[in-house]
Amino acid sequence: MQSIGQAQRAIVESVGPLPAEQTALARARGRVLASDVRAERDLPGFDHSAMDGYAARHAELSLAGALPVRGESRAGGTWPEPLAAGCAIRIFTGAPMPQGADTVIIQEDVDAEHGPEHGAIRVRELPKLGSNIRTRGSDLAIGALALPAGQLIGPGEIALLAALGCARVATYRAPRVAIVCTGDELRDVHEVLPPGALVNSNAYMLAAQVEDAGGVATVLPSAPDRIEEIIARFEQALAGSDVVLTSGGVSVGDHDLVAEALSRAGVETRFWKVAMKPGKPLLFGMRGAVPVLGLPGNPVSAFVGFEVFVRPLLSRMRGLRAPYPALIPVRLAHDHRKSKGRPELARGVLTPSPSDSGALTAELHTRQGSGSLPSIARVDALVFLPGDASELPSGAALTALRIGARAESTEPTFP
Ligand code: AMP
Ligand code: MG
Repeated sequence: MQSIGQAQRAIVESVGPLPAEQTALARARGRVLASDVRAERDLPGFDHSAMDGYAARHAELSLAGALPVRGESRAGGTWPEPLAAGCAIRIFTGAPMPQGADTVIIQEDVDAEHGPEHGAIRVRELPKLGSNIRTRGSDLAIGALALPAGQLIGPGEIALLAALGCARVATYRAPRVAIVCTGDELRDVHEVLPPGALVNSNAYMLAAQVEDAGGVATVLPSAPDRIEEIIARFEQALAGSDVVLTSGGVSVGDHDLVAEALSRAGVETRFWKVAMKPGKPLLFGMRGAVPVLGLPGNPVSAFVGFEVFVRPLLSRMRGLRAPYPALIPVRLAHDHRKSKGRPELARGVLTPSPSDSGALTAELHTRQGSGSLPSIARVDALVFLPGDASELPSGAALTALRIGARAESTEPTFP
């Protein structure tokens, strides 16, 4: 049986980044840059004042005399005349520096005398040469690397790209993910449930996880447990998708038809079991370049399987260079007993420890069964419980994966 880390690696390494495309800046959040972005203009674009005050020549400033004020420069106003000898100019934040001025004195540091024209100022506090000026190109000069290929684009990156005039950027295409749930018992959320039926919650959950992981989800109608119908649905899912996720029917019961259906749809199985709890039956196969993940039907198992395997897969397809989520050290908040055997990914909540601000304490959900839906709500971490452990005392040093955490490691998360 594959270890969790081996399975993660096999899945992630089966794909590369999707092709690049030009993306409008307003739609680029969550995408990953496919090429370096170099500054095609200076940032800032012109020397300007960082504060409201007066621009002057440093050599002409003294605490003794007054400087007459000639003219004004404000953000977006007319370009200021060159600074006259022995004068200051009124200036405001963001306004261009007049030629000849080399220092801005903030208005709090002067006594302003209002005369018939613009008046004069007496400097109370001598600034250093060059104070309160943002010089052209000081943040980023033309030609400098603004953002590297592989960079995830968030709101801050969008602002930088906008300031640089990049209306469109080259990003990797977002993975299109088809979701097919199987099971005779499944009904949609608004349907009346006959005896023995339940809501297809996995369809909603997986679509939400896909969107959260930067993919574009398409949910197909669920398939009943009949082989021909499952095959037809898988064929439909495989056409035009970058990834196919299935849920249910993947273990070895009489009505578990997913493995056979995938094989008959031309999907080549790479492995079918992972040494983990929950989520041992997990099928991974490929048809051409399209990875297919057969997730268990148990909602908790499907949830965990997505976080551990599908999220890094999508991260890789989106072009992130370090696609795996990293583990963080935690301490168990209470005693916990488990059976020896497979390593477990227990759902829990992390809180900063009151005594040690650097440490995180992990409190495990009281119901850890793979069918128990409340254990995936209101939790924020999967806590790794090693296979050989049985009695875990309060304070035990463990590791955890933050649910939905940014990808940040080039190596698989787990051993
Ligand atoms: P299976 O993996 O098909 O054996 O299903 C395992 C358990 O998960 C059963 O109790 C199913 O009723 C339940 N289940 C299967 N598919 C879903 C689904 N899409 N949404 C919610 N529960 C499901
Ligand atoms: Mg089933």
